[in-house]
Amino acid sequence: MRWSQTLIPTLKETPAEAEILSHKLLLRAGLVRKLTGGLYTFLPLGVRVLRKVEQIVREEMDRSGALEVLLPTLQPPEIWQQSGRYEAIGDGLYKLRDRAKKEWVMSPTAEEVITTLAAGEINSYRQLPATFYQISVKFRDEIRPRFGLMRAKEFIMKDAYSFDATEEAAMSSYRKMYDAYQRIFNRCGLKNFPVEADTGVIGGNLSHEFMVPAETGENEIVFCEACGYAANLEKATSGIPKTAAREVGPTPEKFATPGVVTIEALTKAPHSVPANRQIKTLVFIADSKPVLILVRGDDQLNEAKLASVLGTTVFRPAETPEIFDALGAHPGSLGAVGVTKFPVFADERLRGANGMTTGANEDGFHFNKVSLERDIPGARWADLRTVGAGEPCAKCAKPLKIQRGIEVGHVFMIGSKKYSEKLNAYYLAEDGTRKPCVMGCYGIGITRTLQSIIEQSNDKDGIVWPLTVAPYQVCITPLGVASGSAVMQLAEKIYAELQARGVDVILDDRDERPGVKFKDADLVGFPIRLGIGEKSLAKGEVELKRRGGTLTPVLAAAAVAKVCECLAAGGAN
Ligand code: ATP
Ligand code: MG
Repeated sequence: MRWSQTLIPTLKETPAEAEILSHKLLLRAGLVRKLTGGLYTFLPLGVRVLRKVEQIVREEMDRSGALEVLLPTLQPPEIWQQSGRYEAIGDGLYKLRDRAKKEWVMSPTAEEVITTLAAGEINSYRQLPATFYQISVKFRDEIRPRFGLMRAKEFIMKDAYSFDATEEAAMSSYRKMYDAYQRIFNRCGLKNFPVEADTGVIGGNLSHEFMVPAETGENEIVFCEACGYAANLEKATSGIPKTAAREVGPTPEKFATPGVVTIEALTKAPHSVPANRQIKTLVFIADSKPVLILVRGDDQLNEAKLASVLGTTVFRPAETPEIFDALGAHPGSLGAVGVTKFPVFADERLRGANGMTTGANEDGFHFNKVSLERDIPGARWADLRTVGAGEPCAKCAKPLKIQRGIEVGHVFMIGSKKYSEKLNAYYLAEDGTRKPCVMGCYGIGITRTLQSIIEQSNDKDGIVWPLTVAPYQVCITPLGVASGSAVMQLAEKIYAELQARGVDVILDDRDERPGVKFKDADLVGFPIRLGIGEKSLAKGEVELKRRGGTLTPVLAAAAVAKVCECLAAGGAN
Protein backbone atom coordinates (compact mmCIF):
# COMPACT_ATOMS: atom_id res chain seq x y z
CA MET A 1 0.00 0.00 0.00
CA ARG A 2 1.09 3.56 -0.72
CA TRP A 3 0.50 5.94 2.17
CA SER A 4 -0.86 8.57 -0.24
CA GLN A 5 -3.48 6.11 -1.51
CA THR A 6 -4.96 5.15 1.81
CA LEU A 7 -6.54 7.06 4.69
CA ILE A 8 -4.38 7.40 7.79
CA PRO A 9 -5.59 10.56 9.48
CA THR A 10 -3.07 10.80 12.33
CA LEU A 11 -3.66 13.46 14.94
CA LYS A 12 -1.07 15.58 16.76
CA GLU A 13 -3.42 16.58 19.53
CA THR A 14 -5.10 14.14 21.84
CA PRO A 15 -8.85 14.25 21.34
CA ALA A 16 -10.60 15.37 24.52
CA GLU A 17 -13.08 12.48 24.36
CA ALA A 18 -10.44 9.86 25.17
CA GLU A 19 -9.69 9.08 28.81
CA ILE A 20 -7.30 6.15 28.57
CA LEU A 21 -4.08 5.84 26.63
CA SER A 22 -5.17 3.09 24.25
CA HIS A 23 -8.28 5.05 23.31
CA LYS A 24 -6.16 8.15 22.64
CA LEU A 25 -3.77 6.14 20.49
CA LEU A 26 -6.58 4.47 18.55
CA LEU A 27 -7.77 7.91 17.52
CA ARG A 28 -4.38 9.56 17.11
CA ALA A 29 -3.00 6.75 14.95
CA GLY A 30 -6.04 7.01 12.69
CA LEU A 31 -7.39 3.52 13.37
CA VAL A 32 -10.93 4.51 14.33
CA ARG A 33 -13.23 7.49 14.57
CA LYS A 34 -16.13 8.00 16.93
CA LEU A 35 -19.56 8.23 15.38
CA THR A 36 -21.27 8.83 18.69
CA GLY A 37 -20.90 7.48 22.23
CA GLY A 38 -20.15 3.74 22.14
CA LEU A 39 -20.17 3.55 18.31
CA TYR A 40 -16.97 3.60 16.27
CA THR A 41 -16.05 3.60 12.59
CA PHE A 42 -13.03 1.50 11.69
CA LEU A 43 -10.69 3.22 9.24
CA PRO A 44 -8.47 1.25 6.82
CA LEU A 45 -5.62 0.66 9.30
CA GLY A 46 -8.06 -0.30 12.06
CA VAL A 47 -9.72 -2.81 9.77
CA ARG A 48 -6.36 -4.38 8.94
CA VAL A 49 -5.58 -4.99 12.61
CA LEU A 50 -9.10 -6.22 13.21
CA ARG A 51 -8.83 -8.76 10.37
CA LYS A 52 -5.51 -10.01 11.71
CA VAL A 53 -6.87 -10.54 15.20
CA GLU A 54 -9.92 -12.26 13.70
CA GLN A 55 -7.71 -14.46 11.58
CA ILE A 56 -5.72 -15.61 14.60
CA VAL A 57 -8.98 -16.38 16.39
CA ARG A 58 -10.35 -18.20 13.34
CA GLU A 59 -7.23 -20.30 12.89
CA GLU A 60 -7.17 -21.36 16.53
CA MET A 61 -10.90 -22.09 16.57
CA ASP A 62 -10.52 -24.21 13.43
CA ARG A 63 -7.52 -25.95 14.94
CA SER A 64 -9.56 -26.82 18.03
CA GLY A 65 -12.12 -28.50 15.78
CA ALA A 66 -14.84 -25.86 16.10
CA LEU A 67 -17.03 -25.23 13.04
CA GLU A 68 -17.62 -21.71 11.78
CA VAL A 69 -21.23 -20.63 11.35
CA LEU A 70 -22.95 -17.28 11.04
CA LEU A 71 -26.08 -16.65 13.07
CA PRO A 72 -28.66 -13.91 12.55
CA THR A 73 -28.21 -10.68 14.47
CA LEU A 74 -31.93 -10.00 14.49
CA GLN A 75 -33.49 -12.57 16.78
CA PRO A 76 -37.06 -13.39 17.81
CA PRO A 77 -37.77 -12.40 21.43
CA GLU A 78 -39.67 -15.66 21.98
CA ILE A 79 -36.48 -17.71 22.33
CA TRP A 80 -35.11 -15.14 24.76
CA GLN A 81 -38.29 -15.47 26.79
CA GLN A 82 -37.98 -19.24 26.68
CA SER A 83 -34.48 -19.11 28.19
CA GLY A 84 -35.55 -16.52 30.77
CA ARG A 85 -32.93 -14.04 29.62
CA TYR A 86 -35.44 -11.60 28.11
CA GLU A 87 -36.18 -10.63 31.72
CA ALA A 88 -32.73 -11.33 33.19
CA ILE A 89 -30.83 -9.08 30.78
CA GLY A 90 -33.68 -6.59 30.74
CA ASP A 91 -32.71 -3.16 29.42
CA GLY A 92 -29.29 -4.48 28.38
CA LEU A 93 -31.01 -5.96 25.32
CA TYR A 94 -31.47 -3.74 22.29
CA LYS A 95 -34.97 -4.27 20.95
CA LEU A 96 -36.71 -2.87 17.94
CA ARG A 97 -40.06 -3.12 16.23
CA ASP A 98 -40.66 -3.81 12.56
CA ARG A 99 -43.40 -2.36 10.37
CA ALA A 100 -45.88 -4.91 11.65
CA LYS A 101 -45.01 -3.77 15.21
CA LYS A 102 -43.42 -7.10 15.93
CA GLU A 103 -40.52 -6.93 18.36
CA TRP A 104 -36.98 -8.18 17.63
CA VAL A 105 -33.87 -8.54 19.76
CA MET A 106 -30.44 -7.41 18.50
CA SER A 107 -28.04 -10.19 19.43
CA PRO A 108 -25.81 -9.44 22.47
CA THR A 109 -24.61 -13.10 22.27
CA ALA A 110 -26.27 -16.15 20.75
CA GLU A 111 -26.91 -19.05 23.16
CA GLU A 112 -30.62 -19.05 22.32
CA VAL A 113 -30.11 -19.20 18.55
CA ILE A 114 -27.38 -21.83 18.62
CA THR A 115 -29.41 -24.02 20.99
CA THR A 116 -32.37 -23.69 18.65
CA LEU A 117 -30.07 -24.83 15.84
CA ALA A 118 -28.85 -27.76 17.91
CA ALA A 119 -32.44 -28.68 18.78
CA GLY A 120 -33.16 -29.01 15.07
CA GLU A 121 -29.94 -30.56 13.80
CA ILE A 122 -28.51 -32.72 16.58
CA ASN A 123 -30.48 -35.89 17.08
CA SER A 124 -28.03 -38.61 18.01
CA TYR A 125 -25.03 -39.15 20.26
CA ARG A 126 -23.18 -39.94 17.04
CA GLN A 127 -23.23 -36.22 16.16
CA LEU A 128 -21.56 -35.25 19.44
CA PRO A 129 -19.33 -33.57 20.42
CA ALA A 130 -19.99 -30.51 18.28
CA THR A 131 -18.63 -27.00 18.73
CA PHE A 132 -19.77 -24.05 16.62
CA TYR A 133 -18.38 -20.55 16.47
CA GLN A 134 -19.01 -17.27 14.74
CA ILE A 135 -17.33 -13.88 14.53
CA SER A 136 -19.95 -11.18 14.36
CA VAL A 137 -21.22 -7.85 15.56
CA LYS A 138 -22.96 -7.86 18.93
CA PHE A 139 -25.14 -5.23 20.52
CA ARG A 140 -25.45 -4.34 24.18
CA ASP A 141 -27.25 -1.40 25.70
CA GLU A 142 -24.45 -0.76 28.19
CA ILE A 143 -25.23 1.55 31.09
CA ARG A 144 -21.86 3.24 30.70
CA PRO A 145 -20.22 2.78 27.30
CA ARG A 146 -16.69 4.11 27.64
CA PHE A 147 -13.00 3.82 26.90
CA GLY A 148 -13.52 3.56 23.15
CA LEU A 149 -13.78 -0.04 21.98
CA MET A 150 -13.39 -1.41 25.51
CA ARG A 151 -17.05 -1.01 26.38
CA ALA A 152 -19.06 -0.18 23.30
CA LYS A 153 -22.72 -0.48 22.37
CA GLU A 154 -21.79 -2.34 19.21
CA PHE A 155 -18.68 -4.52 19.07
CA ILE A 156 -17.23 -7.58 17.42
CA MET A 157 -17.25 -10.80 19.37
CA LYS A 158 -16.20 -14.33 18.64
CA ASP A 159 -18.72 -16.58 20.33
CA ALA A 160 -18.50 -20.36 20.44
CA TYR A 161 -20.79 -23.04 21.81
CA SER A 162 -20.04 -26.67 22.56
CA PHE A 163 -22.55 -29.52 22.73
CA ASP A 164 -21.66 -32.80 24.40
CA ALA A 165 -23.30 -36.02 25.53
CA THR A 166 -21.92 -36.09 29.05
CA GLU A 167 -20.51 -33.72 31.67
CA GLU A 168 -17.16 -35.40 31.27
CA ALA A 169 -17.10 -34.92 27.52
CA ALA A 170 -18.20 -31.31 28.01
CA MET A 171 -15.23 -30.74 30.29
CA SER A 172 -12.95 -31.89 27.52
CA SER A 173 -14.58 -29.44 25.06
CA TYR A 174 -14.16 -26.70 27.67
CA ARG A 175 -10.51 -27.56 28.06
CA LYS A 176 -9.96 -27.41 24.31
CA MET A 177 -11.38 -23.91 24.19
CA TYR A 178 -9.39 -22.85 27.23
CA ASP A 179 -6.21 -24.01 25.52
CA ALA A 180 -7.20 -22.32 22.25
CA TYR A 181 -7.76 -19.06 24.14
CA GLN A 182 -4.28 -19.21 25.59
CA ARG A 183 -2.84 -19.74 22.11
CA ILE A 184 -4.92 -16.87 20.71
CA PHE A 185 -3.91 -14.27 23.27
CA ASN A 186 -0.29 -15.37 23.13
CA ARG A 187 -0.26 -15.06 19.35
CA CYS A 188 -1.75 -11.57 19.72
CA GLY A 189 1.30 -10.71 21.79
CA LEU A 190 -0.80 -10.13 24.90
CA LYS A 191 0.36 -10.88 28.41
CA ASN A 192 -2.71 -12.49 29.87
CA PHE A 193 -3.83 -14.96 32.47
CA PRO A 194 -6.95 -16.96 33.21
CA VAL A 195 -8.86 -16.34 36.42
CA GLU A 196 -11.81 -18.10 38.03
CA ALA A 197 -14.93 -16.16 37.16
CA ASP A 198 -18.48 -15.55 38.13
CA THR A 199 -21.00 -17.17 35.80
CA GLY A 200 -23.40 -14.18 35.95
CA VAL A 201 -26.71 -14.34 34.15
CA ILE A 202 -25.45 -16.85 31.58
CA GLY A 203 -25.56 -19.39 34.40
CA GLY A 204 -23.58 -22.53 34.98
CA ASN A 205 -20.96 -23.62 37.41
CA LEU A 206 -17.44 -23.40 35.99
CA SER A 207 -15.97 -20.42 34.26
CA HIS A 208 -12.69 -18.65 33.56
CA GLU A 209 -12.00 -15.17 32.31
CA PHE A 210 -8.86 -14.27 30.39
CA MET A 211 -7.46 -11.09 31.83
CA VAL A 212 -4.95 -8.62 30.51
CA PRO A 213 -3.28 -6.90 33.47
CA ALA A 214 -3.85 -3.14 33.15
CA GLU A 215 -4.48 -0.32 35.60
CA THR A 216 -7.33 0.90 33.42
CA GLY A 217 -9.07 -2.48 33.46
CA GLU A 218 -12.59 -2.57 34.84
CA ASN A 219 -12.06 -5.83 36.68
CA GLU A 220 -10.33 -6.47 39.94
CA ILE A 221 -8.41 -9.71 40.13
CA VAL A 222 -7.66 -11.39 43.42
CA PHE A 223 -4.57 -13.54 43.22
CA CYS A 224 -2.10 -15.44 45.34
CA GLU A 225 1.53 -15.33 44.29
CA ALA A 226 2.32 -18.34 46.46
CA CYS A 227 -0.08 -20.94 45.03
CA GLY A 228 -1.32 -19.34 41.81
CA TYR A 229 -4.95 -18.94 42.85
CA ALA A 230 -6.52 -16.19 40.73
CA ALA A 231 -10.14 -15.12 40.61
CA ASN A 232 -12.24 -12.17 39.61
CA LEU A 233 -13.22 -10.13 42.68
CA GLU A 234 -16.82 -10.89 41.65
CA LYS A 235 -16.17 -14.51 42.47
CA ALA A 236 -13.13 -14.59 44.75
CA THR A 237 -13.23 -16.11 48.19
CA SER A 238 -10.63 -16.08 50.91
CA GLY A 239 -9.74 -18.03 54.01
CA ILE A 240 -10.82 -15.22 56.30
CA PRO A 241 -12.07 -16.59 59.65
CA LYS A 242 -15.81 -16.89 60.35
CA THR A 243 -17.35 -14.70 63.03
CA ALA A 244 -16.32 -15.78 66.53
CA ALA A 245 -19.02 -17.09 68.86
CA ARG A 246 -19.99 -14.87 71.82
CA GLU A 247 -22.31 -14.88 74.81
CA VAL A 248 -25.79 -16.17 74.00
CA GLY A 249 -28.85 -14.60 75.61
CA PRO A 250 -32.21 -16.38 75.51
CA THR A 251 -33.61 -13.73 73.13
CA PRO A 252 -32.42 -10.59 71.37
CA GLU A 253 -32.53 -7.52 73.61
CA LYS A 254 -33.80 -4.21 72.29
CA PHE A 255 -31.89 -1.06 73.25
CA ALA A 256 -32.29 2.60 72.40
CA THR A 257 -29.87 4.11 69.87
CA PRO A 258 -31.26 7.56 69.17
CA GLY A 259 -29.65 9.22 66.17
CA VAL A 260 -27.37 6.26 65.46
CA VAL A 261 -27.82 5.38 61.79
CA THR A 262 -24.44 4.07 60.64
CA ILE A 263 -22.23 1.10 61.49
CA GLU A 264 -19.52 3.59 62.37
CA ALA A 265 -21.74 5.54 64.82
CA LEU A 266 -22.66 2.36 66.66
CA THR A 267 -18.98 1.56 67.19
CA LYS A 268 -18.66 4.74 69.29
CA ALA A 269 -19.51 5.25 72.99
CA PRO A 270 -21.85 4.77 74.65
CA HIS A 271 -22.75 1.71 72.52
CA SER A 272 -19.23 0.71 71.48
CA VAL A 273 -20.25 -2.23 69.31
CA PRO A 274 -17.32 -3.13 67.03
CA ALA A 275 -18.25 -3.34 63.35
CA ASN A 276 -17.44 -7.04 63.32
CA ARG A 277 -20.21 -7.63 65.89
CA GLN A 278 -22.81 -5.82 63.80
CA ILE A 279 -25.05 -7.08 61.02
CA LYS A 280 -25.40 -4.72 58.06
CA THR A 281 -28.91 -4.98 56.59
CA LEU A 282 -29.34 -3.82 52.99
CA VAL A 283 -32.63 -3.73 51.13
CA PHE A 284 -32.81 -4.27 47.37
CA ILE A 285 -35.75 -4.39 45.00
CA ALA A 286 -35.59 -7.45 42.74
CA ASP A 287 -38.50 -8.49 40.58
CA SER A 288 -40.40 -5.48 42.09
CA LYS A 289 -40.19 -6.98 45.59
CA PRO A 290 -37.95 -6.14 48.56
CA VAL A 291 -35.10 -8.53 49.40
CA LEU A 292 -33.00 -8.24 52.57
CA ILE A 293 -29.27 -8.80 52.38
CA LEU A 294 -27.16 -9.31 55.49
CA VAL A 295 -23.39 -8.94 55.65
CA ARG A 296 -21.15 -8.34 58.60
CA GLY A 297 -20.74 -4.72 59.67
CA ASP A 298 -17.11 -4.61 58.56
CA ASP A 299 -17.78 -6.34 55.22
CA GLN A 300 -18.87 -4.99 51.85
CA LEU A 301 -21.59 -6.56 49.74
CA ASN A 302 -20.43 -7.73 46.31
CA GLU A 303 -23.23 -6.96 43.86
CA ALA A 304 -22.01 -9.46 41.27
CA LYS A 305 -22.32 -12.21 43.87
CA LEU A 306 -25.76 -10.89 44.70
CA ALA A 307 -26.72 -11.06 41.01
CA SER A 308 -25.69 -14.72 40.93
CA VAL A 309 -27.70 -15.46 44.06
CA LEU A 310 -30.78 -13.63 42.79
CA GLY A 311 -30.36 -15.07 39.27
CA THR A 312 -30.78 -11.65 37.67
CA THR A 313 -28.91 -8.40 37.18
CA VAL A 314 -32.18 -6.52 37.29
CA PHE A 315 -32.22 -5.26 40.86
CA ARG A 316 -31.52 -1.97 42.60
CA PRO A 317 -31.10 -0.59 46.10
CA ALA A 318 -34.53 0.22 47.57
CA GLU A 319 -35.46 3.88 48.05
CA THR A 320 -36.05 5.12 51.60
CA PRO A 321 -39.87 5.27 51.23
CA GLU A 322 -39.92 1.71 49.86
CA ILE A 323 -37.82 0.58 52.82
CA PHE A 324 -40.09 2.32 55.31
CA ASP A 325 -43.11 0.76 53.64
CA ALA A 326 -41.61 -2.72 53.86
CA LEU A 327 -39.97 -2.66 57.28
CA GLY A 328 -41.51 0.28 59.18
CA ALA A 329 -38.15 1.95 59.79
CA HIS A 330 -35.55 4.05 57.97
CA PRO A 331 -32.07 3.00 56.87
CA GLY A 332 -29.82 2.85 59.89
CA SER A 333 -32.32 0.98 62.04
CA LEU A 334 -32.95 -2.00 59.79
CA GLY A 335 -32.67 -5.68 60.60
CA ALA A 336 -34.03 -9.09 59.66
CA VAL A 337 -35.10 -10.34 63.10
CA GLY A 338 -38.75 -11.35 62.86
CA VAL A 339 -38.95 -10.58 59.12
CA THR A 340 -40.90 -13.30 57.35
CA LYS A 341 -42.58 -11.41 54.52
CA PHE A 342 -39.46 -10.92 52.42
CA PRO A 343 -36.62 -13.16 51.32
CA VAL A 344 -33.46 -12.78 53.43
CA PHE A 345 -29.99 -13.70 52.13
CA ALA A 346 -27.13 -13.75 54.62
CA ASP A 347 -23.42 -13.88 53.94
CA GLU A 348 -21.66 -17.11 54.88
CA ARG A 349 -19.37 -15.24 57.22
CA LEU A 350 -22.35 -14.69 59.51
CA ARG A 351 -23.31 -18.37 59.62
CA GLY A 352 -23.41 -19.53 63.22
CA ALA A 353 -22.67 -16.04 64.55
CA ASN A 354 -24.28 -15.03 67.83
CA GLY A 355 -24.13 -12.10 70.20
CA MET A 356 -24.58 -9.82 67.18
CA THR A 357 -26.16 -6.37 67.02
CA THR A 358 -28.61 -5.29 64.33
CA GLY A 359 -31.33 -2.69 63.70
CA ALA A 360 -34.72 -3.40 65.26
CA ASN A 361 -36.88 -2.08 62.40
CA GLU A 362 -37.91 0.71 64.71
CA ASP A 363 -36.22 4.10 64.28
CA GLY A 364 -33.76 4.72 67.12
CA PHE A 365 -33.58 1.11 68.31
CA HIS A 366 -31.27 -1.86 67.82
CA PHE A 367 -31.22 -5.45 69.03
CA ASN A 368 -28.18 -7.07 70.57
CA LYS A 369 -27.53 -10.70 71.54
CA VAL A 370 -28.83 -11.72 68.14
CA SER A 371 -28.11 -15.29 67.11
CA LEU A 372 -28.30 -15.65 63.35
CA GLU A 373 -29.66 -19.16 63.09
CA ARG A 374 -32.08 -18.79 66.01
CA ASP A 375 -33.40 -15.29 65.35
CA ILE A 376 -33.31 -15.12 61.58
CA PRO A 377 -34.15 -18.72 60.77
CA GLY A 378 -35.45 -17.98 57.26
CA ALA A 379 -32.14 -16.62 56.03
CA ARG A 380 -30.62 -18.34 53.02
CA TRP A 381 -26.84 -18.57 53.12
CA ALA A 382 -24.64 -17.40 50.30
CA ASP A 383 -21.20 -16.01 49.62
CA LEU A 384 -21.96 -12.29 49.33
CA ARG A 385 -18.98 -10.41 50.74
CA THR A 386 -16.16 -8.75 48.86
CA VAL A 387 -12.66 -10.11 49.46
CA GLY A 388 -10.03 -7.57 50.54
CA ALA A 389 -6.30 -7.42 49.75
CA GLY A 390 -4.16 -9.06 52.44
CA GLU A 391 -6.78 -11.61 53.48
CA PRO A 392 -5.40 -15.15 53.69
CA CYS A 393 -5.65 -17.29 50.55
CA ALA A 394 -8.29 -20.02 50.98
CA LYS A 395 -5.90 -22.56 49.49
CA CYS A 396 -2.55 -21.76 51.09
CA ALA A 397 -3.23 -19.01 53.70
CA LYS A 398 -0.66 -16.63 52.19
CA PRO A 399 -1.87 -13.00 51.83
CA LEU A 400 -3.94 -12.29 48.72
CA LYS A 401 -3.20 -9.42 46.35
CA ILE A 402 -5.55 -7.45 44.13
CA GLN A 403 -4.72 -6.12 40.69
CA ARG A 404 -6.78 -4.57 37.90
CA GLY A 405 -7.30 -6.24 34.54
CA ILE A 406 -9.22 -6.14 31.26
CA GLU A 407 -11.43 -9.13 30.47
CA VAL A 408 -10.72 -10.10 26.87
CA GLY A 409 -12.25 -13.56 26.88
CA HIS A 410 -14.54 -15.76 28.90
CA VAL A 411 -15.19 -19.51 28.91
CA PHE A 412 -18.23 -21.04 30.62
CA MET A 413 -19.33 -24.54 31.39
CA ILE A 414 -23.10 -24.27 31.29
CA GLY A 415 -24.54 -27.77 31.65
CA SER A 416 -27.95 -28.70 30.30
CA LYS A 417 -30.53 -26.88 32.42
CA LYS A 418 -29.99 -23.33 31.31
CA TYR A 419 -30.53 -23.68 27.55
CA SER A 420 -30.69 -27.30 26.31
CA GLU A 421 -33.68 -28.24 28.45
CA LYS A 422 -35.47 -24.93 27.98
CA LEU A 423 -34.97 -24.81 24.22
CA ASN A 424 -35.32 -28.50 23.62
CA ALA A 425 -31.81 -29.49 22.55
CA TYR A 426 -32.07 -33.24 23.27
CA TYR A 427 -30.27 -36.13 21.60
CA LEU A 428 -30.85 -39.86 21.51
CA ALA A 429 -28.23 -41.55 23.69
CA GLU A 430 -26.59 -44.88 22.91
CA ASP A 431 -28.92 -46.63 25.36
CA GLY A 432 -31.94 -45.24 23.50
CA THR A 433 -32.91 -42.62 26.09
CA ARG A 434 -33.45 -38.93 25.28
CA LYS A 435 -30.98 -36.65 27.00
CA PRO A 436 -30.32 -32.90 26.98
CA CYS A 437 -27.03 -31.78 25.42
CA VAL A 438 -24.42 -30.56 27.89
CA MET A 439 -23.34 -27.10 26.80
CA GLY A 440 -20.41 -24.78 27.13
CA CYS A 441 -20.09 -21.26 25.75
CA TYR A 442 -17.04 -19.17 25.02
CA GLY A 443 -16.55 -15.51 24.07
CA ILE A 444 -13.73 -13.28 22.93
CA GLY A 445 -14.18 -9.54 22.52
CA ILE A 446 -12.28 -9.04 19.25
CA THR A 447 -12.47 -5.25 19.32
CA ARG A 448 -11.68 -5.14 23.04
CA THR A 449 -8.70 -7.44 22.44
CA LEU A 450 -7.45 -5.08 19.72
CA GLN A 451 -7.55 -2.11 22.07
CA SER A 452 -6.03 -4.13 24.92
CA ILE A 453 -3.00 -4.83 22.75
CA ILE A 454 -2.49 -1.07 22.41
CA GLU A 455 -3.12 -0.52 26.12
CA GLN A 456 -0.37 -2.99 26.90
CA SER A 457 2.06 -2.25 24.12
CA ASN A 458 2.98 1.40 23.65
CA ASP A 459 5.62 4.00 24.47
CA LYS A 460 5.87 7.78 24.50
CA ASP A 461 5.88 7.91 20.70
CA GLY A 462 2.85 5.75 20.07
CA ILE A 463 1.73 2.19 19.53
CA VAL A 464 4.24 -0.69 19.48
CA TRP A 465 2.43 -3.40 17.49
CA PRO A 466 3.38 -7.03 17.91
CA LEU A 467 4.35 -8.29 14.48
CA THR A 468 1.40 -10.68 14.33
CA VAL A 469 -1.27 -7.97 14.38
CA ALA A 470 0.46 -4.84 13.05
CA PRO A 471 -1.53 -3.04 10.32
CA TYR A 472 1.60 -3.26 8.16
CA GLN A 473 4.73 -5.01 9.30
CA VAL A 474 7.14 -2.82 7.38
CA CYS A 475 7.07 0.88 6.55
CA ILE A 476 9.42 2.18 3.88
CA THR A 477 10.21 5.83 4.49
CA PRO A 478 11.94 7.61 1.61
CA LEU A 479 13.16 11.03 2.73
CA GLY A 480 12.25 13.00 -0.34
CA VAL A 481 9.89 11.66 -2.95
CA ALA A 482 10.95 13.39 -6.15
CA SER A 483 10.10 10.86 -8.81
CA GLY A 484 13.08 9.43 -10.59
CA SER A 485 15.46 10.33 -7.73
CA ALA A 486 17.85 7.63 -6.56
CA VAL A 487 16.06 7.56 -3.18
CA MET A 488 12.62 7.06 -4.67
CA GLN A 489 13.84 4.52 -7.22
CA LEU A 490 15.32 2.41 -4.48
CA ALA A 491 12.22 2.83 -2.31
CA GLU A 492 10.04 1.62 -5.19
CA LYS A 493 12.34 -1.30 -5.89
CA ILE A 494 12.41 -2.48 -2.28
CA TYR A 495 8.65 -1.96 -2.01
CA ALA A 496 8.06 -4.14 -5.06
CA GLU A 497 10.44 -6.84 -3.88
CA LEU A 498 8.94 -7.02 -0.40
CA GLN A 499 5.45 -7.20 -1.90
CA ALA A 500 6.60 -9.98 -4.19
CA ARG A 501 7.75 -11.89 -1.11
CA GLY A 502 4.33 -11.47 0.47
CA VAL A 503 5.48 -8.98 3.10
CA ASP A 504 2.86 -6.64 4.50
CA VAL A 505 4.44 -3.33 3.52
CA ILE A 506 3.48 0.31 3.26
CA LEU A 507 5.44 2.90 1.29
CA ASP A 508 5.32 6.38 2.79
CA ASP A 509 5.29 8.24 -0.51
CA ARG A 510 3.95 11.47 0.99
CA ASP A 511 5.81 14.66 0.24
CA GLU A 512 6.31 15.45 3.93
CA ARG A 513 9.26 16.45 6.08
CA PRO A 514 11.27 13.48 7.46
CA GLY A 515 10.26 14.46 11.01
CA VAL A 516 6.59 14.19 10.17
CA LYS A 517 7.05 10.83 8.48
CA PHE A 518 9.08 9.35 11.32
CA LYS A 519 6.65 10.63 13.92
CA ASP A 520 3.68 9.17 12.08
CA ALA A 521 5.38 5.81 11.57
CA ASP A 522 6.17 5.64 15.28
CA LEU A 523 2.69 6.79 16.28
CA VAL A 524 1.02 4.14 14.14
CA GLY A 525 3.61 1.69 15.41
CA PHE A 526 4.88 -0.26 12.38
CA PRO A 527 7.27 -2.91 13.73
CA ILE A 528 9.99 -2.31 11.12
CA ARG A 529 10.90 0.94 9.42
CA LEU A 530 13.27 1.23 6.53
CA GLY A 531 14.54 4.79 6.13
CA ILE A 532 16.04 5.76 2.77
CA GLY A 533 17.83 9.10 2.59
CA GLU A 534 20.28 10.72 0.22
CA LYS A 535 23.12 10.86 2.73
CA SER A 536 23.21 7.22 3.69
CA LEU A 537 22.43 6.14 0.17
CA ALA A 538 25.60 7.92 -0.96
CA LYS A 539 27.37 5.31 1.19
CA GLY A 540 25.22 2.59 -0.34
CA GLU A 541 23.23 2.21 2.85
CA VAL A 542 19.70 2.45 4.15
CA GLU A 543 18.56 2.57 7.77
CA LEU A 544 16.65 -0.23 9.41
CA LYS A 545 14.86 0.50 12.64
CA ARG A 546 12.80 -1.79 14.78
CA ARG A 547 10.00 0.04 16.57
CA GLY A 548 11.37 1.01 19.94
CA GLY A 549 14.87 -0.20 18.99
CA THR A 550 17.97 1.48 17.60
CA LEU A 551 18.83 2.46 14.07
CA THR A 552 21.00 0.00 12.14
CA PRO A 553 22.63 0.89 8.82
CA VAL A 554 22.31 -1.94 6.29
CA LEU A 555 23.60 -2.21 2.76
CA ALA A 556 20.95 -1.08 0.30
CA ALA A 557 21.48 -4.24 -1.71
CA ALA A 558 20.88 -6.39 1.38
CA ALA A 559 17.87 -4.43 2.66
CA VAL A 560 15.18 -6.84 1.48
CA ALA A 561 16.98 -9.88 2.83
CA LYS A 562 17.63 -8.09 6.10
CA VAL A 563 13.96 -7.13 6.52
CA CYS A 564 12.89 -10.70 5.81
CA GLU A 565 15.40 -12.00 8.32
CA CYS A 566 14.11 -9.55 10.88
CA LEU A 567 10.51 -10.62 10.23
CA ALA A 568 11.41 -14.28 10.52
CA ALA A 569 13.07 -13.55 13.84
CA GLY A 570 9.87 -12.01 15.19
CA GLY A 571 10.46 -8.37 14.26
CA ALA A 572 10.40 -5.75 16.91
CA ASN A 573 8.98 -7.91 19.62
P1 ATP B 1 -18.16 -7.27 30.90
O1 ATP B 1 -18.12 -7.95 32.24
O2 ATP B 1 -16.90 -6.56 30.57
O3 ATP B 1 -19.40 -6.47 30.69
P2 ATP B 1 -19.27 -9.64 29.94
O4 ATP B 1 -18.81 -10.57 30.97
O5 ATP B 1 -20.64 -9.15 29.96
O6 ATP B 1 -18.25 -8.42 29.85
P3 ATP B 1 -19.31 -11.74 27.98
O7 ATP B 1 -20.77 -11.89 27.89
O8 ATP B 1 -18.50 -12.73 28.71
O9 ATP B 1 -18.97 -10.26 28.51
O10 ATP B 1 -18.77 -11.49 26.50
C1 ATP B 1 -17.59 -12.06 25.96
C2 ATP B 1 -16.55 -11.01 25.65
O11 ATP B 1 -17.06 -9.93 24.90
C3 ATP B 1 -15.97 -10.34 26.89
O12 ATP B 1 -14.97 -11.15 27.45
C4 ATP B 1 -15.43 -9.04 26.35
O13 ATP B 1 -14.13 -9.24 25.82
C5 ATP B 1 -16.37 -8.73 25.21
N1 ATP B 1 -17.34 -7.67 25.55
C6 ATP B 1 -18.41 -7.77 26.35
N2 ATP B 1 -19.10 -6.62 26.41
C7 ATP B 1 -18.43 -5.75 25.61
C8 ATP B 1 -18.65 -4.39 25.23
N3 ATP B 1 -19.68 -3.70 25.67
N4 ATP B 1 -17.77 -3.82 24.38
C9 ATP B 1 -16.71 -4.51 23.90
N5 ATP B 1 -16.46 -5.79 24.21
C10 ATP B 1 -17.31 -6.41 25.05
MG1 MG C 1 -17.71 -12.10 30.88
